[in-house]
Amino acid sequence: MPAASVQAVIDLAALRHNLEVVRRSAPGRRIMAVVKSQAYGHGEVAVARALEGRADALAVARAGEGVALREAGIQAPLVVLEGPGGPDELSACVRFGLQPTLHHASQIELLRGLSGQASLDCWLKCDTGMHRLGFAPEGLGGLWREVSALPAVASLRLMTHLACADDPRDPMTGEQLARMRAACAGLPAEQSIANSAGILAWPDSHADWVRPGLMLYGASPLAGRDAAGLDLRPVMTLSAPLIAVKALGAGEPVGYGATWRAPEDMPLGVAGIGYGDGYPREIAPGAQVLVNGMRVPVVGRVSMDMIALDLRGVEAAVGDRVVLWGEGLPVDEVAAWAGTIPYTLFCGVTARVPRRYRDESRGGEDGQGG
Ligand SMILES: *Cc1c(COP(=O)(O)O)cnc(C)c1O
Repeated sequence: MPAASVQAVIDLAALRHNLEVVRRSAPGRRIMAVVKSQAYGHGEVAVARALEGRADALAVARAGEGVALREAGIQAPLVVLEGPGGPDELSACVRFGLQPTLHHASQIELLRGLSGQASLDCWLKCDTGMHRLGFAPEGLGGLWREVSALPAVASLRLMTHLACADDPRDPMTGEQLARMRAACAGLPAEQSIANSAGILAWPDSHADWVRPGLMLYGASPLAGRDAAGLDLRPVMTLSAPLIAVKALGAGEPVGYGATWRAPEDMPLGVAGIGYGDGYPREIAPGAQVLVNGMRVPVVGRVSMDMIALDLRGVEAAVGDRVVLWGEGLPVDEVAAWAGTIPYTLFCGVTARVPRRYRDESRGGEDGQGG
């Protein structure tokens, strides 16, 4: 069972379980599973294959990501959340059957140039207050009618994005929902508003389509709520081998900058993972990993390829697995130690870390891929 090197095991049964949590949380709504940025670092092709036929659509940020999924054989409806960035990307949407999000006048101009032979299902993005992408709520109805009538547009749904849904007390979400309601009043079009936080904390945001990202991967999208309490299961378990165990004398330093010293004679471990794999150099003192199921502190600075561990009170030998996050150690805790969010930890796992896919519901065979 122990693998030689650092690896990220991706549990596809947990992914599907989390999809069911989405379904249960937003009953009867359609699900657009977000697989942008290599499915939050989990491997977009394997994740898309596991979700295809279960989610109603998949979403990526950029047209190129959609093309790559099509070329890998993914046939599910695919939404491009940032829409086409130019004529080439718009052509790619037509050729590969991608659904562009239209958030800017320049994209509407591109669409006008398409002949009626093109037939695109599109999304019109409304900026209800986040002020990132989208058209102002005032005038959205008129714009919807105008764009719907373009020869290349087969259908036009409506979308907005929430800025503060992770805090269930933040008044901004209610304001955004009210603006969306007013902007879309009377338009015969499906709507999509909720990300993971909206799905779990804001039932009024469920609309016709929900867009879960983070919760599919088993991290908590809500401030102050842990993933297990939301019945979310970790999908990625990042682990590395213990590559050295040694005796350290009292007062001896560890690592670059000699920032930490042994308070007494003690055993020290070195694990073969570092910031070159995506383990954050920014972790605070006291950050922990799992060694043989026990929590132990990381000591000294994170190197590119290694971290040092305080092994006092733990039975451990070279070759034992060290879990950085995942099963037994929530990524949300590691994110807090690093002063960041689980999104950046997932997306930051680098290309040199092999993803290994596990699927208990299919007999548990392991496979490389994605
Ligand atoms: C990334 C993204 C999502 C998913 O957000 P999570 O917080 O990961 O659930 C939904 N909608 C849009 C427009 C996004 O960019």
